[in-house]
Amino acid sequence: MIPPVLPTYNRAPLAFVKGEGCWLQEADGRRFLDLGAGIGVNALGHAHPALVAALAEQAAKLWHVSNLYQIPAQQALAERLVEETFADTVFFTNSGTEALELAVKMARRHWHGAGRPERSEIIAFEGAFHGRSIAAISAAGSEKLTAGFGPLLPGFRHLPFADMAAIEGAIDETTAAVIIEPIQGEGGIRPAPDAFLQRLRALCDATGSLLIFDEVQCGMGRTGRLFAHEWAGIAPDIMMVAKGIGGGFPLGAVLATEAAASAMVAGTHGSTYGGNPLGCTVGLKVMETVSDPAFLAGVRRKAGLLRQGLEGLVAEHPQIFAQVRGQGLMLGIVCKVPNTDVVRAGHDEQILTVPAADNVVRLLPPLVITDDEIAEAVARLGRAAHRLRAEA
Ligand SMILES: *Cc1c(COP(=O)(O)O)cnc(C)c1O
Repeated sequence: MIPPVLPTYNRAPLAFVKGEGCWLQEADGRRFLDLGAGIGVNALGHAHPALVAALAEQAAKLWHVSNLYQIPAQQALAERLVEETFADTVFFTNSGTEALELAVKMARRHWHGAGRPERSEIIAFEGAFHGRSIAAISAAGSEKLTAGFGPLLPGFRHLPFADMAAIEGAIDETTAAVIIEPIQGEGGIRPAPDAFLQRLRALCDATGSLLIFDEVQCGMGRTGRLFAHEWAGIAPDIMMVAKGIGGGFPLGAVLATEAAASAMVAGTHGSTYGGNPLGCTVGLKVMETVSDPAFLAGVRRKAGLLRQGLEGLVAEHPQIFAQVRGQGLMLGIVCKVPNTDVVRAGHDEQILTVPAADNVVRLLPPLVITDDEIAEAVARLGRAAHRLRAEA
């Protein structure tokens, strides 16, 4: 019999009732060290006092008002994002998937506005994840996401990820846009080398194609820069943001240059809840915290500590772990045993991690994780590895 909740998730037998910082607690009081952070969502950890206060204060004043009216918190967050990034303008959504929808619409509309409506093809990459709508699974293209959901949206073409030879000649005057995650998340914490992103930027510049970065998972301070593409010293024309930007409140955004966005005039796009006062008030607080250079420097330093600890685990348990990859506090451990076994052994040691493709276990801790918590995480993962060796 089908359960009351549609069974589309493989849920662990864990139920949390309370969170604080990097810790989640079950009803019986058992505490888990959370290195998943809602898949990189709880950027400032659970129940961060400043976010709780901001949300509670706004909740007492005004929850929802239509985008038919001015929304000061939305205005303030947009101004802050424009100030800190390549972007000239921002549209707010409730999720990453909705950001993908607008990114695709904006790219197509751009060429419509330029009098070239036939220029609609978007190049995407194998192993990508952009969300679960029909456009998003069409963009990602993998059989795992698309099987049984056809007909898919036409107009996407897929190239191997981070393959220099494949992009030469593939991007031309018929390409509307190129969409890529600077670091693939669901795809297994696979960073695109800086040189690859730089070459994409150069090819887009040469052909006029728009470059779209999906920074839903790798953005908002996760890599130790506000956005991951900053490491490569280049910028996109359009960027999708979600997950970390709301710190746990559903919030997403599309950032764009004026040139990319200029065809999106009144009436071309909208959202009932996107940019609501609650989400934008919390998002502004997250943004103020995460964009502070001292905070980002702290993320880079702690990332070094975590990475060093994980490299130690790989050296100590070569039967279990193969390699560490990723950037900042977006790290993946490539496993030699099934990654889901490693995640489960972690649950036995009361530490939460997230599986990804390519047999990777993902670590996306709250950016506020402390040095002591990093040491504790490495110790718990080490005990999980010992468990797996004993089972083998
Ligand atoms: C999670 C994710 C999405 C989809 O975001 P939702 O909020 O789940 O719709 C899109 N792109 C990337 C890179 C993601 O990690």
